[in-house]
Amino acid sequence: MTSDLKQPATACADTAWQDDVRAGVRHVRDLERLPLSPAERAAAQAAAASHKVRVPKPYLDLVDWNDPNDPIRAQVIPSPDELIATEGELGDPIGDHQFSPVPRLTHRHADRVLLFPTYQCAVYCRFCFRKESLTSIGRGYTREALEPALAYIAGHEEIREVILTGGDPLSLPDKALEEIRARIEAIAHVRLLRIHTRVPVALPSRITAGLVAALQGRLLVTVVTHFNHPREITPDTEEACRTMRQAGFVLLNQSVLLKGVNDRVEVLEELCRELMYRLGVKPYYLHHGDLAPGMAHRRTTIAEGQALVAELRARLSGICNPTYVIDLPDGGGKVPLAASHIESREGGTWRIRGQDGKVREYREVVG
Ligand code: SF4
Repeated sequence: MTSDLKQPATACADTAWQDDVRAGVRHVRDLERLPLSPAERAAAQAAAASHKVRVPKPYLDLVDWNDPNDPIRAQVIPSPDELIATEGELGDPIGDHQFSPVPRLTHRHADRVLLFPTYQCAVYCRFCFRKESLTSIGRGYTREALEPALAYIAGHEEIREVILTGGDPLSLPDKALEEIRARIEAIAHVRLLRIHTRVPVALPSRITAGLVAALQGRLLVTVVTHFNHPREITPDTEEACRTMRQAGFVLLNQSVLLKGVNDRVEVLEELCRELMYRLGVKPYYLHHGDLAPGMAHRRTTIAEGQALVAELRARLSGICNPTYVIDLPDGGGKVPLAASHIESREGGTWRIRGQDGKVREYREVVG
C-alpha cells in the first residue's frame, strides 16, 4: 500500500512540502500547541471526533489567531457548532453512494465519472460534504482498490471525462499519480482528466515539477482548485498556479458559500477578481452550502446567495463571475440558482430585466 502524503526524497525543491506537512497540524493532539482557550480546545477536540483534523503549515500561517471569527481559522479548526445535528442534514448530501456501481466510483452523468483514488486529504475542511466518507471509508490509495473502477470505465464507452476527487488526489505521491494517470489514459475513449483539489490552496509547495510531470500525458488535464477566501491567495499559491498553467493545465475554481467566511459581496468580488487576474484561474462554481452534518452554522439561505451573485454580476466581468449552483440531494446534480432575468413571455416577445434593473422587451427575430 502506498501511504498518502509520503514519498521518497528526491530533489530539494520537490520535497520542501514534506516539511510543511510535518510542521502543520497532523492530528487532533497537535491542537494543543495552537493558541486556543482551554474551552475552545476541549470543544475542538470533541468536534474532531466526527471529522479528522489536518492543516499544513502554509495554511496555518494564514490564520489570524487574534480574531476568533477569522475566516481561515473557521475553515479548518473544529468548532463546537459542528456537534449540533440539524434536521434535514444528510450523511451523503449529493447522493454519491446511490450512483456508485463499484467501489471508489460514482457514475451520475453518462459522459463522466468521479473516481476516488484516496479518501485522505492534505487538509481537512470543516465544511466538507464528503466528511462521512472520509471518516467511515477513510482509506488511502492502493493499485488493487482501483481495479473494479478502472474496469468499469473501460467497459463504458460513453465515459469521456474522469474526475479524480476524494479525498484529495494531489495528496498522493507522484508515483501513484503517474500510475493512475497512465492507467486512465490507456482507456482509449477517455479524453479528459479532471482533478478536484484543495492542495494548491493549503499546501502549495506540493505543486512541484515532479507532480505536474506525473500528470502529463495524452489527456487534457483540468485542475479545479478550491479557493474560498481572497486571503488564501498568496505568493506561494500564485507560484503553484503558474507551475500548473505552464504545464498546460486548464485551471478552474469552485468555492463554497460559507456564512462568516465569504458571504459578503466585497469578499467574493476580491476573491473572483484575484483568482482570474492574479492566478489565471477561472471562477467556475460558487456552491450553495451542502446539507453536510453539523454545518447549519455555516450555511446561508438561497435568497442570500442569489442577492450576492446578482451584485457580483453587476460588479465583475463575465470571465470573473462564477455560476451559483446547488448540488441537489439524491443525485439530482448541479443546477444554477441565480434569479432569472426573464419577467414574462408572450409568443416570441420576452420581457427581460437588464443589469440596470429596467425591464425591456426583446422580440425574437428568426428566419
Ligand atoms: S480537501 Fe476536499 S475532500 Fe478533503 S476535506 Fe477539504 S473539501 Fe473535503
